[in-house]
Amino acid sequence: MEHRDPAVINRFDTRSSRPCEFCRELDPQFPQRRPLDQMVVTSRKAIASAHLTEDGYVRHRMLELRQITSSAPLTAA
Ligand SMILES: [Zn+2]
Repeated sequence: MEHRDPAVINRFDTRSSRPCEFCRELDPQFPQRRPLDQMVVTSRKAIASAHLTEDGYVRHRMLELRQITSSAPLTAA
C-alpha cells in the first residue's frame, strides 16, 4: 500500500529554496537524492548548513571533505 502525502513536500515553500549548486556539481548521485535533500535555503550561500535536511547537510559535508582530501594542498599548515 503506497502512501504519499504531497503536503510533506509542500511544507517548504519552493520559492524560498533552491537546489544546492555545490552538491549538484560535485555529487554524481545528486539526481537520486530526495528533492528536499537537494535543496538549500535561497537566502543563504550553498553551504552545508543551508540545507533543509540533515541528510542534505551530511552529504554536502562529505563532498566538502572529499574535495579537501583530493586536492591535498602541500601548503597545508
Ligand atoms: Zn549542498
